[in-house]
Amino acid sequence: MFKTSYSVIGLQEKVRKVILSKSAYKNIISIVESCYPKEACGVMFGKIKESTAIITEVIKIKNVLESSYRFWFDVIEWMDVILKAKKRNLEYIGLFHSHPKGSPIPSLADRHRMLECPEEIWIIVSYTPDSAINIAAWRIDDWGSSITRLLLTVA
Ligand SMILES: [Zn+2]
Repeated sequence: MFKTSYSVIGLQEKVRKVILSKSAYKNIISIVESCYPKEACGVMFGKIKESTAIITEVIKIKNVLESSYRFWFDVIEWMDVILKAKKRNLEYIGLFHSHPKGSPIPSLADRHRMLECPEEIWIIVSYTPDSAINIAAWRIDDWGSSITRLLLTVA
């Protein structure tokens, strides 16, 4: 008989579910719209309760690459936004960015970045003005060996 479940010492419960508040969702979409056709990016804040991340606030940061297919940001700006939010008791959850072309699946460059920050949750929005918005949440799992799509709800 094989054991079907086991525990590993020191392994924390991982986030499996993301709840995006309606206001945070609206803010993400308006940031994504305003940056189109370039990729938008920003930082997400909220609370993690057990295996659920609750995102209540998002803040835009500048895509320094000014690109339609890539993003990155000034690390000083990113840290500044996080430190200010910490003073308001908001927990850093991760990043969001847009894909003005294509699907909300992490690109190869995204995957490389995500490997550097395995506990972060990334939300990707695929957006063009004339098609439906597609949004997905992701996290690196299994000690960096896979990318997991998380259950995402707007509430
Ligand atoms: Zn991307």
